[in-house]
Amino acid sequence: MDSRLAADLAGLPDLLTAARDYAAGILDDLGERPVAATRAEFAPQPLPVAGVGAARALQVFRERWAPGFSGSAGPRYLGFVTGGATPAALVGDWLTGAFDQNAVTRQDSSAVDLERETVGWLRSLFGLGAGHHGTFVSGATMSNTVGLAIGREWLGAQQGISVARQGVAALGDISVLSGAPHSSIYKALSMLGIGRDQLRTVPLLDDREAVDVAALEAALAAIDGPAIVVANAGTVNTVDFDDLSAISRLKSKYPFWLHVDAAFGGFAALSEDHKHLVAGLDQADSICIDLHKWLNVPYDAAIQFTRRRDLQLNVFQNAAAYLTPPEGDPDLFHLTPENSRRLRALTAWFTLAAYGAEGHREVVERNVAAARRFGEQVAGLPGVRVLAPVRLNVVCFAVDDVPAVLAAVARSGEAFLTPTVHRGVPALRAAFANWRTGEADADRVIAALAKALADG
Ligand SMILES: *Cc1c(COP(=O)(O)O)cnc(C)c1O
Repeated sequence: MDSRLAADLAGLPDLLTAARDYAAGILDDLGERPVAATRAEFAPQPLPVAGVGAARALQVFRERWAPGFSGSAGPRYLGFVTGGATPAALVGDWLTGAFDQNAVTRQDSSAVDLERETVGWLRSLFGLGAGHHGTFVSGATMSNTVGLAIGREWLGAQQGISVARQGVAALGDISVLSGAPHSSIYKALSMLGIGRDQLRTVPLLDDREAVDVAALEAALAAIDGPAIVVANAGTVNTVDFDDLSAISRLKSKYPFWLHVDAAFGGFAALSEDHKHLVAGLDQADSICIDLHKWLNVPYDAAIQFTRRRDLQLNVFQNAAAYLTPPEGDPDLFHLTPENSRRLRALTAWFTLAAYGAEGHREVVERNVAAARRFGEQVAGLPGVRVLAPVRLNVVCFAVDDVPAVLAAVARSGEAFLTPTVHRGVPALRAAFANWRTGEADADRVIAALAKALADG
């Protein structure tokens, strides 16, 4: 054994303690460290021939890299839709690495059953029925991709063919309809060989990002044969929701696969006051929900639900002489893009075990309250125009010089926001999805923004 490796093995408890102490200090300071790092020089070092051992590597990391890392796990990082990691989720993440299970088969470990239990918990959390099967994937983009891959197989089944066997060319024309899809839907269509250009956007309701269901019905009526509909439950600009119940009712008249991208909007189901936004979600054929956003587990985790595990198995089965067969209650490498798989469920298991449905409901409601407060206050700042009502956890607003304001806020170290364009108007978004964030944080961001606007 390499001498440094042997020394690290002998000193492992001390090494873990050093990492623990360092991490505890970082997390203790998270509310005060600069939220966004200003970009430092990047001078890549050559590959070490002889290493330095883990203790010294930790020191090098602390000096060279950590100062450039953002405070994205903290309470005032409002860019994109970004969660943090709850204490229990972090414990789960550390133990995921320590046990390093390959969550694929029951032949040698109960890890797969832990994933199954966690899937069941998430199904209850989001109010889904037993008809939905779930698997963990790396993020919402992958969850959308898997859902649409199953939808693609369903399209084939309507014509008596298997796309998994014959390829996507056997399908002929493919119609994918959606109102205001997330960019990852286009990426998924590209990866699946359907093609980005096959997505046809359907008109939206006036002043909304929700699809006009009458227009969707007209589009479906004009299609000869089965289609895929991507419904959106929480758009990133204004967190608008398609009417999922009305869309699913169309299934009795027109043949289509209903995929719902509920990456973060799915968490509306946790709140009594907001769960009407996702009424009808259970009717979907496939559902995407991100976990590294609003469940506040570390990257990378999302869940993919579907009612058609048989078709999922057609797409992803991986038969080999040394593996279990793709039959009965199949092992997980038959159901997801990966074969070897990180036990991603452990972080979600820990946070749900620790805080339950109630604890996570409280996070959602506190974040929504912070977004509301932010929305009210930002509307009163000079030169600000709020572009949509605050339906859930994102505030979308326009200012004169978006890049300058964003840069000034980031430089202040107080907050981080990201830009967008909404209906042709350059705008900023403030997205609330971190378990630490409360109304006091909203106030601090407002103060930083007010200063940025005044100085601009
Ligand atoms: C974030 C997001 C995605 C993509 O999620 P990743 O985890 O970044 O892959 C897809 N859809 C919606 C609505 C999102 O908010």
